[in-house]
Amino acid sequence: MNDINACNPKIIMDLEALNATNAQGCVACGRKFNLGDTAVLACGAWGSGSRYIHENEAVLDGRTSQYFERGYYMSLKAGT
Ligand SMILES: [Zn+2]
Repeated sequence: MNDINACNPKIIMDLEALNATNAQGCVACGRKFNLGDTAVLACGAWGSGSRYIHENEAVLDGRTSQYFERGYYMSLKAGT
C-alpha cells in the first residue's frame, strides 16, 4: 500500500480519498475520516513512510516543510 498521492501533502477528503484511507482510518487518533475533513500526509511513530492524518493532529515543520504527527514531533524536538 502506497500513499495516495505523495505529491499532495494536504487534501480535503473526498470519496476516493476516503475509500483509500478508511480501511485503516487516521493512524494518529484511530478514528475514520469524514467527507470534507482536511488531512495531511505526515511522518510519525508508526515508522515507515507517511500517512494521512487529521490536519489538527499534525505539526508543520518550518525547516523541512514536512508534516509530523504532533506527539512524534514533540519527541523529536525533545532530542531522543
Ligand atoms: Zn485523526
